[in-house]
Amino acid sequence: MEVKCRIALLGECMIEMRGQMFGTMHQHFGGDTLNTAVYLGRIGAEGGIKVSYATQLGTDAYSQAMIAAWQDEGIDTHMVLREEGRMPGLYTIQVDESGERTFYYWRDASAARGYFEGASSPLEDELDKLDAIYFSGISLAVLPPAGRERLFSLIERFRARGGKVIFDNNFRARLWRDDDPPFWYDRAFANCDMTLITLDDNAALYGLDEGSALAHAYSLACEEVVIKRGAEPTLVRIRGMEPLSVPVFKVPKVVDTTGAGDSFAGGYLAARLQGNSPELAARSGNKIASIVVQHPGAIIPREAMPVFFFV
Ligand code: ADP
Repeated sequence: MEVKCRIALLGECMIEMRGQMFGTMHQHFGGDTLNTAVYLGRIGAEGGIKVSYATQLGTDAYSQAMIAAWQDEGIDTHMVLREEGRMPGLYTIQVDESGERTFYYWRDASAARGYFEGASSPLEDELDKLDAIYFSGISLAVLPPAGRERLFSLIERFRARGGKVIFDNNFRARLWRDDDPPFWYDRAFANCDMTLITLDDNAALYGLDEGSALAHAYSLACEEVVIKRGAEPTLVRIRGMEPLSVPVFKVPKVVDTTGAGDSFAGGYLAARLQGNSPELAARSGNKIASIVVQHPGAIIPREAMPVFFFV
């Protein structure tokens, strides 16, 4: 397969344990950018999109098993750093009798936070081989301020030579401690070519109501703004074009919305990075997300993937 587009996604993937406290727990792994990498790879590989995941893990057996699973998905892992003595982050999902989920995180010392602690990193070293970079608000949140500066500096170099930068606004308030999230988000929005926005997240981040959050999203300087609104139509604004409203697919029953936005991003990007129209891309994102919400967990079995035809 001829490679037409090389993209690296930067972020953190954690060990997931789902089930009853001190009872039976099923182990898996997950993280917003990794979920997007999986869906982008599944949908875009045939069209020549080569997906790399950039993060840091430990040298432990869990880290090794994660890398093996990603490779099994066709994700290129040579941008994954390994640091002895550090471990991946971990979270538990407890499901009570009514199906309500509670998340607990152990990620303060996770290996991924240290991606930019060395003199250089694979992402910085191999910038010239890439066409696009994807990161999210969670990628930003887990990096220390010095790591974020390294990220913005590589983004500046990358864009100066025509590389495309895509930012997903995923906002988790509790990851941000004393920092000033709007300051960092403003910088991310100002330094990307495409942004995927979950409207609720931007409303929470900037303390806006839904209408103001929508106006804020539309005012962003980047070329392509995609606004996800749950079951409401997806909105797309590309500079110089009429804004689009693309309906989502109706589903008989929503089982679990974990990973819906991440899978949307995979479907949208798979289409856009192959040069398809924003409308087809939004339909492709809505299609995969409509399947994902009907399954438990963020990553659905490969057999459950819908078939995509891009022209
Ligand atoms: P996030 O997961 O980032 O919070 P949303 O909740 O906006 O994002 O959902 C992402 C996408 O998942 C939506 O754009 C839509 O395509 C799909 N989706 C979410 N909820 C539903 C639903 N009830 N029915 C059909 N599709 C949905």
